[in-house]
Amino acid sequence: MSECKNCKSKHLKSVINFGKMPLANDFIKSENVRKYNLEIMFCEECYLVQVKEYINHKIIFNDNYKYFSSYSKTIIENGKEYFKKITNKLQLNKDASIIEVASNDGYLLSIFKENGYNNLLGIEPTKSTAYSAIKKGINTKVEFFTYNFAKNIQKADLLIANNVITHVPDINDFIAAIDYSLNDEGIATIEFQHLYQLIKNKYFELFYHEHFTYLSLLTAKSIFNNHGLEIFDVEELQSQGGSLRLYIKKSSNKFYPISNNVEKITKKELDFKLNQFKTYSDLNKYAEQIKDNIKKHIKDKKVSGKKVICYGAPAKGTILLNYLNFSKSDIEYTVDKNSNKQNLLIPGTNIPIYSVDIIKKDKPDCIFILPWNIKEEIMEEHKYIKEWGGQFISYR
Ligand SMILES: [Zn+2]
Repeated sequence: MSECKNCKSKHLKSVINFGKMPLANDFIKSENVRKYNLEIMFCEECYLVQVKEYINHKIIFNDNYKYFSSYSKTIIENGKEYFKKITNKLQLNKDASIIEVASNDGYLLSIFKENGYNNLLGIEPTKSTAYSAIKKGINTKVEFFTYNFAKNIQKADLLIANNVITHVPDINDFIAAIDYSLNDEGIATIEFQHLYQLIKNKYFELFYHEHFTYLSLLTAKSIFNNHGLEIFDVEELQSQGGSLRLYIKKSSNKFYPISNNVEKITKKELDFKLNQFKTYSDLNKYAEQIKDNIKKHIKDKKVSGKKVICYGAPAKGTILLNYLNFSKSDIEYTVDKNSNKQNLLIPGTNIPIYSVDIIKKDKPDCIFILPWNIKEEIMEEHKYIKEWGGQFISYR
């Protein structure tokens, strides 16, 4: 019987069971891809939502990892905004020690570097992305961020951890590492998809093996408190379908007052009953409905002789297309700007990924957008498809 990865309780309830699914970012050349059980559980004791069976994170975040942050304009813009905000809020000196965990291809630390900050350290376990950061001149260690690892690096005045806390197999070890890495006056900012948005908007395709845990502010507060850390401010962000940015300090640091936002968002979660299983219980039914609707819609287009392709090869696209049981006979191909994904297949389907240039040559009738979080950016960039009567399909 499985137990909660945070509080060890055995009171886990199933939210949604996808059966066997490929790893969402396991882009390969052949159709033979390994599949693993994917079931999402809710802990009735600490309210942590989590995958039932963990896949070894060294299998997931391998040297072949294909997610590069710099390919999205939206991500770069958000990074610039964050830079302005945090350097103001903390009055950061140019020699401040800044650590970014899961620094990917170094896009965020590059913004600090361009603005004269020099004491920077990126920590990134996937070689493919880390080497890209090193080429940009960003000091990067190719490692997983753990408590043991944290003992051997500099301490931070600012520690940044965006979209990584849900990726770690041992959330308590990760938070202990953050505590260890902070100077007494140091601040950490942590971003993750907000469980509240995930459930409220029924984003079932955002559940995948790579995301071991799904956090509410309620659960985050209690886990951080257990490690002598305190959330003193929180912001709601648009990114990734709705995220939280937590501002964290050591509990002993009384310099920053606790913002009203903490109470406000906690109340919002409690009003939505995010601490009760019944709030999660209709996600499965909703996912089935979406599946039927998309299948019917694409089938109608095909029957009327339209050529249907996809745009993008995001992780959520892998989950959605596998959930739909789609193959090349439903979607001829997809396109992605990330050259590392091009000429590979979407895992678990035989749908190939090509360069976006093919759209202008091939003139498809319908483009089904998979990364709906940046759909405005995509529709603007490719609005020329109207010239031949092309249309976009978006399911969110
Ligand atoms: Zn628990």
